[in-house]
Amino acid sequence: MIPITKPMLGEKEAEAARRVILSGWTSQGPEVAAFEKEFAEYVGAPYACAVSSCTTALHLALLAVGVQPGDEVITVSHSYIATANVIRYCGATPVFVDIDPDTFNMDPTQIESAVTERTRAILCVHQIGMPCDLAAILDIAHRHSIPVVEDAACAIGSEILWQGQWEKIGNPQADVACFSFHPRKVISTGDGGMITTANAEWDAKFRLLRQHGMSVPDTVRHGASQVIFESYPIVGYNFRMTDIQAAVGREQLKRLPEIVDQRRELASRYQSLLATIPGLGVPVEPDWARSTWQSFCVRLPVESDQRQVMQSMLDAGVATRRGVMCSHREVAYPANAWSCVGRSEGCVCADGSCQRLRHSQEAQDHTIILPLFPQMSPDQQDYVVKALHDALGVMPVN
Ligand SMILES: *Cc1c(COP(=O)(O)O)cnc(C)c1O
Repeated sequence: MIPITKPMLGEKEAEAARRVILSGWTSQGPEVAAFEKEFAEYVGAPYACAVSSCTTALHLALLAVGVQPGDEVITVSHSYIATANVIRYCGATPVFVDIDPDTFNMDPTQIESAVTERTRAILCVHQIGMPCDLAAILDIAHRHSIPVVEDAACAIGSEILWQGQWEKIGNPQADVACFSFHPRKVISTGDGGMITTANAEWDAKFRLLRQHGMSVPDTVRHGASQVIFESYPIVGYNFRMTDIQAAVGREQLKRLPEIVDQRRELASRYQSLLATIPGLGVPVEPDWARSTWQSFCVRLPVESDQRQVMQSMLDAGVATRRGVMCSHREVAYPANAWSCVGRSEGCVCADGSCQRLRHSQEAQDHTIILPLFPQMSPDQQDYVVKALHDALGVMPVN
């Protein structure tokens, strides 16, 4: 069986976790601080704040840039559901724009018409590791003075050509960037997230909000020779990362350059192997972007059935996943929970289907994700391509 992915965790990570467990300090402490510093150096960010997941990272990012109940946030439906959910945690409404069918990323040409006087932020996604068109998005955002938050869950190690230089995503090119350490992502701490920004005030706010709004972190009280009474100026959350997770993350960060290199090599090998399959759409990487290939997503020939292709590959021992989901098609997203461009003109296609999100829906229904993980051998990769070939070969033509 060839799995969809496999985290690169080994003795180094196990030893790091053991070291922290035996140290007696397991919650947010010195390991979290060291992980933040090393992560900030890796992406080139002035500030990095570790939290419990990318979902909690995005939630804090939206709060920091000022998203409040009744506001609108422009984003994509075509993303993991957490992207849209965090907007609703703030009491705001997600306004979905469609994607570019080639890159699966937010189509910048749709943003301008989605802006209203209630728009408080743009939440863009570097979907499955492919940088979105940040230059175009920021151009519109700056004209309207709207902050931009990057959902970089899958983009640890992704790069973008920025003012003539290759920069890591998270630098951050926009206002705040949020990353995930879930096992499906590029590196993992079991669960975990990171928020990067160049804004010192926001970074301070993240630190306050992640620990109950508590004025003095417990590490400071622990190390103090004078008695300190903490206070709670705002209502915060418990969004902490543990030191056990952070110690694992520090080892993962050391492996990251190699992981990204291997993923890129495998992706480029897929590109040439798959070029022989007629009608199959392979991923497009703009010349200003370098993906981590967190997922390798292919568009099936028009006549083929997604479920049948996936079943046939599963029968051959190859795990696949359908393309990225669309939040607006889920039961948790009835028509009154979201909006789209032009909804005010009277929309007849809400609830599960939206003409204005056509490319998002098509991507969900006609793409599949192939296995890609650094430990994958050329033989395994050849086998996946063969299985896909066979699956498409037996397809009845409608
Ligand atoms: C995985 C993912 C998230 C959620 O990350 P968690 O760390 O699991 O909370 C959010 N957005 C996107 C685009 C993702 O792929």
